[in-house]
Amino acid sequence: MSKPTHVAVIGAGLAGLACARRLREAGMQVAVLEKARGPGGRMTTARGPDWQADLGAQYFTARHPEFVAAVEEWCRQGVAAPWDGRLVRVGAGGVVDVDDGPQRWVGGPRMSAVTRNLAQELDLLPATRVTGITGEPGGWWLQTEEGRSAGAFHAVVVAVPPAQAVPLLQLVAPEFAERAGGVAMRPCWSVVVRVDGEAPDFDAAFVADDTLRWLARDGSKPGRERSDVWIAHAAGAFSEARLEDDAGSVGRDMAERVRSMTGITGPTEILRCHRWRYSQCMAPLDDGYLLAAQQGVGVCGDWCHGSRVEDAWLSGHALAGALVDAGL
Ligand SMILES: Cc1cc2nc3c(=O)[nH]c(=O)nc-3n(C[C@H](O)[C@H](O)[C@H](O)COP(=O)(O)OP(=O)(O)OC[C@H]3O[C@@H](n4cnc5c(N)ncnc54)[C@H](O)[C@@H]3O)c2cc1C
Repeated sequence: MSKPTHVAVIGAGLAGLACARRLREAGMQVAVLEKARGPGGRMTTARGPDWQADLGAQYFTARHPEFVAAVEEWCRQGVAAPWDGRLVRVGAGGVVDVDDGPQRWVGGPRMSAVTRNLAQELDLLPATRVTGITGEPGGWWLQTEEGRSAGAFHAVVVAVPPAQAVPLLQLVAPEFAERAGGVAMRPCWSVVVRVDGEAPDFDAAFVADDTLRWLARDGSKPGRERSDVWIAHAAGAFSEARLEDDAGSVGRDMAERVRSMTGITGPTEILRCHRWRYSQCMAPLDDGYLLAAQQGVGVCGDWCHGSRVEDAWLSGHALAGALVDAGL
């Protein structure tokens, strides 16, 4: 019997996990290395002693038949559900209901349930930041921040945002490093606030504003317990301009705008303020994924396909299929 193919996946966001799952199902031995304490990436959920809020992706839509099937499976497994909250647009024209658009889905009871579920049964190494890839095709080694090495791997998948992919790819796939270097991501500040007293009668809002672009009552999503916790995302120009400011002052300004925009008069408590240096892609590649099959080096992530949750999953899933087809 031949030995299983060893693959390393760097990054346990949705793209890396979708890729790792499919490779594992094809019989490969897969290690997933993640710099954060847990999986999820931009689908993470912030949690405190008595609250939670989805900090990055707020909901996802499903258009491609393969992703539709994956979402249906997540729903069957109880880690995703449709979200039918009252969604509005807030701008110069006042508050207008958004009645159209595709079905919106969320992880349940929190967004991170989807990625935690995918990570189950995978060989996940959390709190492991990969700083370099060395070796040669058929025998790749990964260097970690702590000065350790992991390997040898037949293939390596880089499933991190483009700016973080560049230094990893520079030596082993310079042409991919160059492609990644040309993809810009916009930053986004997120603030989580607890509202005491009367709150707006909508569940989420697309906001056309100098400070905010999104506001949602986390508790309006299925499976959540608290209804007084709100999450706001800052407008693009605001996030750019305040990128290096301290979280305390950014959070206060965003919370103040939440109050003035919604008319909330009761106390608001800032529970978390988080800076996403890389939130969503402005001009993604349209390759789906990048693969140098002979070298055994692949790249996936939302930015290879689009800018959303569905794009991340499709990218990772398709790259795994291509690696299997390549007979690695
Ligand atoms: C504020 C915000 C709002 C959003 N809203 C929506 C929305 O409403 N709907 C929607 O569809 N999409 C939304 N998105 C986009 C969506 O979250 C992403 O498209 C998707 O989650 C990207 O998944 P990914 O696996 O490609 O990347 P990521 O989730 O970024 O995963 C990459 C992983 O790699 C890890 N990593 C990075 N460098 C290293 C390293 N050197 N070593 C080890 N690990 C490393 C990171 O910690 C991370 O876990 C939003 C994103 C943000 C930030």
